[in-house]
Amino acid sequence: MPDEHLEPEHFQPEHAGFRKLCQDFLAREAVPYHDEWERAGIVSRGFWRAAGAAGLLGVGVPAEYGGAGQPDYRYPQVLAEELIAAGVTAPGIVAHNDIVASYLATRTTAEQRARWLPGLCAGELIAAIALTEPAGGSDLSAMHTTAVRDGDGYLLNGQKTFITNGENADLILVAARTAGQRGAQGVSLFVVERDTTGLRRGEPMAKLGWHASDTCELTFTDCRVPAANLIGKEHAGSAYLMSGMPRERLSIATVALAAAEKVLAAAVAHAQQRHAFGQPIGSLQHNRFTLATLDTEVAIARVFIDRCVRQLNSGRLSVTDAARAKWWTTELQVRVADRAVQLFGGSGYLRDNPIAKEWANSRVQTIYGGSTEVMKELIGRSLGL
Ligand SMILES: Cc1cc2nc3c(=O)[nH]c(=O)nc-3n(C[C@H](O)[C@H](O)[C@H](O)COP(=O)(O)OP(=O)(O)OC[C@H]3O[C@@H](n4cnc5c(N)ncnc54)[C@H](O)[C@@H]3O)c2cc1C
Repeated sequence: MPDEHLEPEHFQPEHAGFRKLCQDFLAREAVPYHDEWERAGIVSRGFWRAAGAAGLLGVGVPAEYGGAGQPDYRYPQVLAEELIAAGVTAPGIVAHNDIVASYLATRTTAEQRARWLPGLCAGELIAAIALTEPAGGSDLSAMHTTAVRDGDGYLLNGQKTFITNGENADLILVAARTAGQRGAQGVSLFVVERDTTGLRRGEPMAKLGWHASDTCELTFTDCRVPAANLIGKEHAGSAYLMSGMPRERLSIATVALAAAEKVLAAAVAHAQQRHAFGQPIGSLQHNRFTLATLDTEVAIARVFIDRCVRQLNSGRLSVTDAARAKWWTTELQVRVADRAVQLFGGSGYLRDNPIAKEWANSRVQTIYGGSTEVMKELIGRSLGL
């Protein structure tokens, strides 16, 4: 076939340069400390400042606010892949970079951008997003947290739970109801800053995996937020969140695919060298077919995810494709991790075995950022069902 009919390579030489930067940075600034972070349940703030200095935070933020001004999503994709490759399950860079930074770079006033973005890009300000409430995360229209106008600000009351970076966060993007019972239409977004009176952080939550990523509840009790911290228009929060969801879901899918590829490679290597009944366990037909099936699914997922990334770059990633990407890759990640544990046998069940950690880390992926069931609801609706 003539060259012009071939798909251009997804990653270009400039992405390879960025990949090397990520690899060197993580080997130096994260890998040596990761066990310590896992024991502490939180990442040191010094890591965030180092990541900012290395240019890994706010890649998409305009250069005038301290970012790289780089809209190409292949850069965050490379960073996500390298975090997984290095086994660095902390910190919540995806929440900081791909979710909060992108809202603050696009939905804010120039004054807000100048106030928050330089710190966010430098790693001086750590970001979190707080949507989920104890009564439920899937149905955001049932949100209970309220924000009532009071003089030159708002009083927030309510509770959020499972908040990634919740302990470390200096800037918390909070969704709250500003218009009585008007369902999804009455939600607004606010930035709640670190020392705001009435903000209380709960104890760190003990999770099955992602041990170094700090997760906690947040309680707002007459928490006074200046009107200058309202993001965009009042009552427009749900629309902003909906438009940001494809990016958020793709970021989870890129992590899922990277993890599936990594674990599959480890499972194949193990199946080649571990013997049973006089032959490598990978040569036994059941295992060979299991690995061949997973290899096929991972290879096909790679094509779809890279396409979604290019669609996001050109502003064409649909809600439906992002939902397909999210549920398919995260369920695949869980399947790969589960089969890998099986192939590793008893050693795969030991807590400190990397495969066991991958299994534990995989499990949340089908739940947060919109569960598999919610993704299928969205896809079903796109089919007119
Ligand atoms: C480690 C971790 C980190 C997180 N980080 C954040 C964060 O930073 N910020 C944040 O806001 N949230 C965060 N979350 C919360 C996460 O997004 C929610 O857990 C998720 O949205 C599901 O909400 P829920 O737990 O309340 O479950 P529920 O909404 O109660 O759902 C329970 C079950 O019901 C199913 N279900 C719901 N609706 C339907 C339906 N229509 N049809 C069929 N089944 C359905 C769900 O799929 C699920 O299986 C995090 C969670 C975890 C575990």
